Amino acid sequence: MAEVITRFPPSPTGHLHLGGARTALFNWLYARHHGGRLVLRFEDTDRERSKKEYVESILEALKWLGLDWDEGPYFQTERLELYQKYARKLFEEGKAYYCECTKEELETKRKQMLEKGLKPRYDGTCREKGLGPGEGRALRLRVEAVGEVVFEDLLRGKISFPAEEIDDFIIMRSDGTPTYHFAVVIDDFTMGVTHVIRGDDHISNTPKQILIYQALGIEPPRFAHIPMVLGRDGARLSKRHGARSILEYRDEGYLPEALVNYLAKLGWGYGDQEYFTVEELIKLFDIKDVNLSPARFDPDKLLAVNAYWIRNSDASYLLSQLKPFLKEYELDKFSEDYLKAAIETVKTRAKTLVEMAKMMDFYLVEEVEYDEKGEKKFFVKEVLPALEKIKAYLEEKELEEKEFEAFLRGLAEEMGLKLKLIAQAMRLALTGKTVSPGLFEIIKVLGKERVIKRIQKAINFIKARN
Ligand code: GLU
Repeated sequence: MAEVITRFPPSPTGHLHLGGARTALFNWLYARHHGGRLVLRFEDTDRERSKKEYVESILEALKWLGLDWDEGPYFQTERLELYQKYARKLFEEGKAYYCECTKEELETKRKQMLEKGLKPRYDGTCREKGLGPGEGRALRLRVEAVGEVVFEDLLRGKISFPAEEIDDFIIMRSDGTPTYHFAVVIDDFTMGVTHVIRGDDHISNTPKQILIYQALGIEPPRFAHIPMVLGRDGARLSKRHGARSILEYRDEGYLPEALVNYLAKLGWGYGDQEYFTVEELIKLFDIKDVNLSPARFDPDKLLAVNAYWIRNSDASYLLSQLKPFLKEYELDKFSEDYLKAAIETVKTRAKTLVEMAKMMDFYLVEEVEYDEKGEKKFFVKEVLPALEKIKAYLEEKELEEKEFEAFLRGLAEEMGLKLKLIAQAMRLALTGKTVSPGLFEIIKVLGKERVIKRIQKAINFIKARN
């Protein structure tokens, strides 16, 4: 096969959302799988709605996901001369003609057709006028097709549209800018795109684009129209389903690996396998395995996939990802080994990096603040002697898990207290929380010095109150 070239052509009229990111991912995977190239281009001809901030945020989101591109980013607004050149060619060959109908005239005709129960279409008023370019004139494709306009979709097989449904549509507006269809075709052609993988909301656009290819006398690329992403209720995914921009997921503590894994699985699959590294995806991805039924976005599933990747990432990677979430702490005060050991104790429990940062805050502060309910329940005067004894034990003995546990059990028995009460009082003293990783794990990471200090503080606190 000749080199595969795919493209991702977002319109910078909003942030990158799940659906767009999945389209980008499928194009990226297809290119990477075949050792091909991905072209990035911004379809920014809608000058009113296109914004630079969206260009920036889309680029940031793609980079964060790890979806790199080999060419571009191109901007359609910087390529106007190219579209004009091809438009001129079509005009000179008689395959396109100028139209001087005004907006108002077209609108009136449209209404009349609708009233007659007809599908509105351009009636060909200017088709044979032989007009040249001029003020207020748009360029229309002369559609001569009869019968069917046919293309082969990689997922759906042959798709055909009745040619009579396609009118002489505009390819260049009267202001000299290309319409979407024309710009897409000229871009895909001049960029050498071999495979167009896009949402199936574009299926009905494809016949018009095919007609432009035919008029230009060039071979169209291959098309694969992938099913849209729906919400759990079966409606097209929107904010209402809690679908946010990709960068919001980043800011809520999702790992890029999780988003990529989850997005890949949205409509694509490989047996029953749930979790894929990027390398596996590149190796296994084939557009033909994309499912034709619409994919449903399930936020709980995404969260579970995130938890999986947090659990299965190593501590130094997690540390680098966690840093933005730990800004309020002076991380420089701690050794990398200490931070990594702390992360190891929470990574199996956290579903997001935000959760993880909260769970491990007690490792990063000088003094912990006690949970109010917990403190009332567990910092009772009966535990004072137990805490004193634990402190004395730690001051004397080497730390060894089995021995320490046996010691705690013995202590509970000797004092006639529930082991749980002692453990919870210790937990509160060390973490300020009633829920945390295992006590022994925490003690080992914090180190004796911090632990002894925290127990002493708890002792003082209980004494002062009782
Ligand atoms: N710019 C179009 C969009 O954002 C993509 C068009 C295409 O893939 O052909 O929907």
